Amino acid sequence: MSFRLLSLVVPCYNEESCLRALYASICQILPSLPEGLEVEFRFVDDGSTDGTLSVLKELRAGDPRVHYQSFSRNFGKESALLCGMEAARGDLVAVMDADMQDPPSMLLEMIPYILSGEWECVATRRVDRRGEPVIRSFFARMFYGLMGWLTRVNLEPGARDFRLMTRKYVNALLSMREYNRFSKGLFGWVGFKVKWLPYENKERLSGESKWSFIGLCKYALEGMIGFSTSPLYLSFVLGFLACLFAAIICIKTLVKTLFFGEAVQGYTTILACLTFFSGLQFLLIGVLGLYISKIYMEVKGRPIYLVQESSDE
Ligand code: UDP
Ligand code: MG
Repeated sequence: MSFRLLSLVVPCYNEESCLRALYASICQILPSLPEGLEVEFRFVDDGSTDGTLSVLKELRAGDPRVHYQSFSRNFGKESALLCGMEAARGDLVAVMDADMQDPPSMLLEMIPYILSGEWECVATRRVDRRGEPVIRSFFARMFYGLMGWLTRVNLEPGARDFRLMTRKYVNALLSMREYNRFSKGLFGWVGFKVKWLPYENKERLSGESKWSFIGLCKYALEGMIGFSTSPLYLSFVLGFLACLFAAIICIKTLVKTLFFGEAVQGYTTILACLTFFSGLQFLLIGVLGLYISKIYMEVKGRPIYLVQESSDE
């Protein structure tokens, strides 16, 4: 198989301190690419508030292979990825972070797998979570366990978004027009043959991770709601079990009073049941609410991102 153009999609949010180094290290590996494979850069400035856009303009001025799109505000990494992939013209597309946590040199390792024609995508998986707070790793593991249980989408634990894809794979991703975009789930959902490469966790070159703990929890919840309707079924099953439980208690009380004449007892039990079941009801209504809020956002059909400025105008 031969490919002509490799598009490098890089979402950037306040990454002015990393971009030049990233560009330089990508340029270093370019001579080692297979013969005839050209490269284009597709940077997406996700509404950065620092000098990211001016760095991109500077890179563009020095190299016509650099393209950028700049959002009107911060739309989130998922939107930036979508924009970059839509703009990409290559028959090969790679997505990578701007902070050098995804080493560009690994692209050289990935390309032969795609060239072999056996895989549509080469993805990366962290083998360790070194340098990450223990509590975060714990919750991450819990999330992957729960996701595996709730959905049939294959989520690879420790998977990064760093991957190299063929046009066929990218088109499959682009054919999903949903507003609530959870990339890890979308990647899993499209299927195809994916080759996983392990790699050691790297520290950010500079700047800070954009993920707060609360942000990650929200992201996890979005993923579960976006890719599974199991919580709705679970609500149904729980409701059914609660009814069954209530019926048994009723029959038991009836039998006790009619045949044994026992007086009413168990005030505490009643109180506990009452609070438990009303709590459960609120929880289940909350689950419904989460889905309705997603439907609400989907039916509005708003654009997933808005570009304010682009190098290709
Ligand atoms: N990013 C983005 N929009 C956001 C947050 C992050 O485009 O709202 C980009 C960011 O610039 C980086 C990548 O997504 O290139 C991954 O972000 P980060 O390094 O903060 O995440 P982590 O590596 O800690 O998972
Ligand atoms: Mg990072």
